[in-house]
Amino acid sequence: MSIAGASGLWKPHKQHLCLHQRSTGKKAGRRLTTTPEGKFFFSVCRASSQRREVGVGVGVGVRGRKKADTDFDIVVVGAGIIGLTIANRILTTTNLSVAIVDAAQPCAGATGAGQGYLWMGHRNPRQKSWDLANRSKHLWEEFAMDLVASGLDPLSAIGWRNTGSLLVVNSGEEAQRMQAHVEELVGAGVHADYLPASAVREIEPALCLGDGGAALVPGDSQIDAALAVALLCKKNSAFHSQGRYMELLQAPVLQFSRSSTDGSIEVVHTPEHSIQCRRAVVMAAGAWSRSILATVAEEWALPIIPAVKPRKGHLLVLEGLPYLQLKHGLMEFEYTANYNPVQTPQFSHLLDSQEPDHLDFEISSQPTAAGVMQDEDFGVAMTASMDPSGHLLLGSSREFTGFDVGTRNEVLECIMRQASKFLPALADVSLQQAIGSGRVRTGLRPYVPDGTPLIGPVPGVPGLLLATGHEGSGLYLALGTAEMVVGMITGIEGPVNSTLYSPAGRLSL
Ligand SMILES: Cc1cc2nc3c(=O)[nH]c(=O)nc-3n(C[C@H](O)[C@H](O)[C@H](O)COP(=O)(O)OP(=O)(O)OC[C@H]3O[C@@H](n4cnc5c(N)ncnc54)[C@H](O)[C@@H]3O)c2cc1C
Repeated sequence: MSIAGASGLWKPHKQHLCLHQRSTGKKAGRRLTTTPEGKFFFSVCRASSQRREVGVGVGVGVRGRKKADTDFDIVVVGAGIIGLTIANRILTTTNLSVAIVDAAQPCAGATGAGQGYLWMGHRNPRQKSWDLANRSKHLWEEFAMDLVASGLDPLSAIGWRNTGSLLVVNSGEEAQRMQAHVEELVGAGVHADYLPASAVREIEPALCLGDGGAALVPGDSQIDAALAVALLCKKNSAFHSQGRYMELLQAPVLQFSRSSTDGSIEVVHTPEHSIQCRRAVVMAAGAWSRSILATVAEEWALPIIPAVKPRKGHLLVLEGLPYLQLKHGLMEFEYTANYNPVQTPQFSHLLDSQEPDHLDFEISSQPTAAGVMQDEDFGVAMTASMDPSGHLLLGSSREFTGFDVGTRNEVLECIMRQASKFLPALADVSLQQAIGSGRVRTGLRPYVPDGTPLIGPVPGVPGLLLATGHEGSGLYLALGTAEMVVGMITGIEGPVNSTLYSPAGRLSL
C-alpha cells in the first residue's frame, strides 16, 4: 500500500527556512486548555480577567484561513512516541522534510505515562498485530545497537535493559493455561520457558506465586519512555539546521485546507501557523485523533473518523523501597485479556455511526481487563518493573472516563492491593506511604474496539495517513509503525503486511 504511487519516487524538495518553535504557550493572558471531549482551545485573558475563547474545537477560530507561512513535505500531527518515531524514520531514511505539530509537548499524552515494557511474553501469536510486534522488537534491538555503535550507552540514553519478562499466575488452575500459552509462544518462535513457583523464587525472590508459575521470556526488554522521547527530539532536531525539521509545540491543529482538484490536504492550520504540506499528513495524535478528524469529516462529508477512544491508565512510581528490587519485568497473566478484545455486536455502532460524538462515553462499560480485579468502572492487572533510577513502577488500570486525566485514589489502592498479591513485601505499604514516597502518572491510551492499530491511508483524502489506536502497546509498536508509514510514503513496502492495519472500512462519518 503506497500513497506515492507505484514508483514511490518523490520530487526533490526545495530548501526552505525552518522554524523551530518551542513556545511555552504562556504568553501574556493566553492559555491552552482542553475540553472534556479532547478539543483544544486557547483562552485569552482580558484586562478585566474575563476570558474569551479564540479557537474552541476543531475548525473554529481559523476563519479566513491564513496562507501557509512555511512548507514541508510531511506534516505529522502529534508528538507522542508514534509521531516522533515516524518523524525520525522520515528524517533518517529519506530526503523528505518534516514538521511535527503538537497541541502541548512531547510526552503530554499517553507516552508520558508509559511503563516502558517491550515484551512478546504477553502477546498472542494469533493476534493480527503479532508480526508488527515481532518486527518492532527487532527494530528496537537495532536501535539499541546503533546507540552503542555511536558511542552512547543505551541504558542512560533510552533506559534500555534486556531484563526479560515474567508473565505470572498464582493459582494451579491458571498455571495450566499459562503452560499452553508458553507452548504457543514457543511454536511461534519465541524463546519462552514455563517455570513453577519454586523456580521463579530462585530468579525473582520478591515474587510469591503460591502453586502458580510463570512464563519466562528472556529476550524481552524495556525502555524509559521519557528518555526515549528526549533522545528522539534531540536526534530529530539535528535536521533543523538543514531545513528539514520543524517542531511546533503548544500548537493544536485546528483545521486543514484541501486541494480543490484532488481533495488532498494542502495546508495544516494551528492558531498561529499554517503549514503547507507537499506530500502527506500523518495523523498520530493518539486518543485525540478522532476529535481532530470528526469536525472536518462533517464539512468534507467523508467517512474519515477513526473509532479511537481514550482509555485512561494509572501508574504508580514508588521511590525508596530498597528491599523490593526486581530483576525482571512482571505482568500478571490476566493482563493478556487486554490483548484479545472481544468483538461484540455492541462495537458495531462504532464503525457505522452517523453521530460520532456519542462514542465518547457510550462504551464506558465495555471490557476493562476481563477476569482482572475489577471495580464498577475500572479494571486493574498487575504490572511491575524497575525504571533506570531504581524506582518501582506499578501498574496498571484501564477505564473509560473521557479525556479526564485526574488520579483516583480507589484505582491506586486497587493497584497496590493487586501488586501485593504477587509481591508480599508491598502488603505493609499503605497508599499514603506509597504516594508519599513516589509519583502517580496517568495517560490516555488510544483504544480501538477491534484491538488493531489503524495504520495507513484514509480513503477519499489523498495523502492523509492514520497512525493511531495502539492502546497499551504504542511504545513497543512505534518503530514497526514508523517503518510501515514511511514505507507507504515512499512506496517501499516493508516486511510487515500493512493491509491488516488498513483504516479502509474501519472509519465512520
Ligand atoms: C499507564 C500506562 C502504561 C503504559 N505502558 C506501556 C508500556 O509499557 N509499553 C507500551 O508499549 N505501551 C504502553 N502504554 C501505551 C503507550 O503509552 C501508548 O500506546 C502510546 O504512548 C501512544 O502514543 P501516541 O503517540 O499514539 O499517543 P500520545 O502519546 O497520546 O500522543 C498524542 C499527542 O497528540 C497531541 N495532540 C492532541 N491533540 C492535538 C491537536 N489538535 N493538534 C496537535 N497535536 C495534538 C497530544 O498533545 C499528544 O502529545 C502505556 C499507557 C499507559 C497509560
